[in-house]
Amino acid sequence: MVAETVTGADMPTIVESPQFLADEAATLAFARRFALGVEAPCSVALVGDLGAGKTTFVRGVLRALGVAGTIKSPTYALVESYDTAKGAVHHLDAYRIESVDDFEARGGFEYFESPSIRFVEWPERLHDAVAFDLVVRFDFDGDGRRVTVTPLSAQSHALEQL
Ligand code: ADP
Ligand code: MG
Repeated sequence: MVAETVTGADMPTIVESPQFLADEAATLAFARRFALGVEAPCSVALVGDLGAGKTTFVRGVLRALGVAGTIKSPTYALVESYDTAKGAVHHLDAYRIESVDDFEARGGFEYFESPSIRFVEWPERLHDAVAFDLVVRFDFDGDGRRVTVTPLSAQSHALEQL
């Protein structure tokens, strides 16, 4: 694992840890490690193109946290919520919202009020309306993916080394 340190004048030191995920099984194994480290409250921005593995990752986290039933992509419903070993987990997908006002009108911000774990696909659509604790970015890399975790708050320090 290569750790890259990014510093800026007005922000804390950010340690990015890119790692290669050769196949879906590797994404699921990464998701299990993430599930062990994550604690509520935590807001996770999931960045990556269509098919990069954002939903696969959340499914892996939910399975690791004991969710046994169907896990649907929230693309149409905006959010799917689960009762897990680490409390409420909300899986949101902002792909189809029209605007931040639309997200608000549909109750999107309510999932950020009580101390739960939230995963948001297409966080760019929310602009800066949500303060994320970390960014998990998936990039295509040959037949596999490269995942980069960027902690943005003290809340995410446990997730720096996965
Ligand atoms: P997204 O939510 O980012 O649009 P999905 O998770 O729905 O993406 O789809 C990702 C696709 O890529 C799935 O077909 C999954 O099996 C596959 N996949 C997931 N992780 C990897 C990986 N590390 N290498 C190759 N394929 C992967
Ligand atoms: Mg998805």
